[in-house]
Amino acid sequence: MYTVSVTAKKILQRFPRIKRRAAQLLSLMPLSARLGRNFWTWYAFYEESECWSQEQMAAYQISTLQHLLTELKGSSPYYRDLLLGVDPASIDSVQRFQQFVPTQTQTDFSSQFERIVAQNLDRRVEHSSTSGTTGKAMQFYHPYRDGEREWASVCHQWKRVGYIPGQSRRVEFRGLLSKGSLVEEFPHRNMIRCSILHLGHEHIRVYAEVIRRNKINFIHGYPSAVALLADGIKTSGINFPQPEAILLASEMVLDWQQQRIRAAFPEARIFAHYGCAQRTVIAGWCEYRQEYHVLPLYGLTEVDPETGELIATNLHNTVNGFVRFRMGDAALEWSAEPCPDCGRPYLLRIKELAGRLEDYLYAPERGWIPSAIMTFPLKSLRAVGEIQFVQKEQDEIVIRYILKSQSQEAEAAAELQIAVEKFQEMFGREMNLSLQRVDSFERGATGKWKWIVSELDRWNYLRERRE
Ligand SMILES: [Zn+2]
Repeated sequence: MYTVSVTAKKILQRFPRIKRRAAQLLSLMPLSARLGRNFWTWYAFYEESECWSQEQMAAYQISTLQHLLTELKGSSPYYRDLLLGVDPASIDSVQRFQQFVPTQTQTDFSSQFERIVAQNLDRRVEHSSTSGTTGKAMQFYHPYRDGEREWASVCHQWKRVGYIPGQSRRVEFRGLLSKGSLVEEFPHRNMIRCSILHLGHEHIRVYAEVIRRNKINFIHGYPSAVALLADGIKTSGINFPQPEAILLASEMVLDWQQQRIRAAFPEARIFAHYGCAQRTVIAGWCEYRQEYHVLPLYGLTEVDPETGELIATNLHNTVNGFVRFRMGDAALEWSAEPCPDCGRPYLLRIKELAGRLEDYLYAPERGWIPSAIMTFPLKSLRAVGEIQFVQKEQDEIVIRYILKSQSQEAEAAAELQIAVEKFQEMFGREMNLSLQRVDSFERGATGKWKWIVSELDRWNYLRERRE
C-alpha cells in the first residue's frame, strides 16, 4: 500500500534482500507514517460520514461528480468528446447524469485507452490492472497515493468486525507467492500470505504454526481458498488458531462455502466485501446483514434496470476516468432503501450478487443456471480437489477435475459418479456430461481460476429475468 519511485522499484527488483530490509525498517516506523496521511484522512472521513443523512451523502456525491466531470473534460480527449455540449455544473442529479452521459463498456475502455488517459498525466501515477481471469487483462492508472484511499475504504468496512488498521494482524489466503514458497511475511503490513495452491494437511500444519507465531487474528482470502482450508482443518483434526474474523473478498461467497468455513471456525465472525481493481464500487456486509452496502463516498453505483448489471463511476480518478462503467457483474436483488438495522446512509444495498455473467451454465431443458446452484452436488466431494465446468455447446458440458492426491483415484471416481448423476438431474437428460482429469487449471496473476468457463452468451438470460 505504499508507493515507491521507478528507480527504487528497480533497485528492489535487483536486490530482494534490500526489499526485506526496507520492509523491516518500515515496520519500525510510527504507524501514522506507515499507512500515510491520505489513508488516515479517508479513514476519518468515512467514520464521520457514516452518520450523515442520505441528503448529505447525495449532495457529496453530486458535487464530487461535477468536479470529476469538469476535470476529465479538461484533460481527456475522450471525455471532452463524450461531454461535448454538456456543462458538468448542470449535472445536479443522478437522473441528469444518466440522461447526458452514456455508459462505457470494457471494450470502449480498452479500445479508447490512449484518449481516455489525461493529457497532463502525472508521472507518479499508480499502475493497476485487472487479474485477467475473466478474459483479457485491462491496464490502467490511479492517481498518486490513491492506494491509501483504497486501503482506508477496505479498513473502514472491516472495522465492522473488529479490524483495527495498523494493529490487527492478517493472514492472506489469496494471490500467489514467489515460486515454491509456502509462506511469505510482510511485517510492514502486519500480514503474512500462505499459498492457496498448497492446502494439504502437511501444509495446513505449517500454516497453523506460522499463524500462531505471528499472532495473526484475522484471515483474509478468497472464499474458495478459505473453504478448502476449512475442509482440511476438519478432515485432519489439526488444532488451527481461531481468528477473530474471516474477511472474504474477490469472489462470490456461496452458502455451502460459508457453512464449511463456519464448521472449522465456529467462533469467528464472517465478513465479505465486493470490490474491483477499477475502484468504481466497494460494498461490504454490515454487522447485522449479509447484504452488500455500497460505499457512496467511494463511487456512484447504478444498476441496469434490464439486466441488473452494475454500472459504476469512480468519483476520484481524474487521471483515467471510469465514468458509468459497465462492470460485467450483476445484482439479482437490490434495494434503494438504506439498511434498517445499521442505519448507514449507504446506497445501494445489494441483497444478492449474481457475480460475473460468465458464471452461468446453460441447459436446453432448464435454461440458464447460476453458479451457486451448481455447487450443491459438489458438497460431498472429498477426494476431488478442485473442479471446473467447461461449456462450448448448449448441450455439452465437460467437468474437469484435479485429484487431492494420486492415491485417491478410486474414491474420486466413485464420488464423481454420484455428483454426475446429480448434475444430470439438474441439467436434464439432454445434457451430455463428461469428465476430464487434469493436473492443474490455468490461473491468472492473482491465483484465481475460473471455475466456470462458458463460451455462450448470458445477457439474454438476465434480460428475460427482468421482463
Ligand atoms: Zn446494515
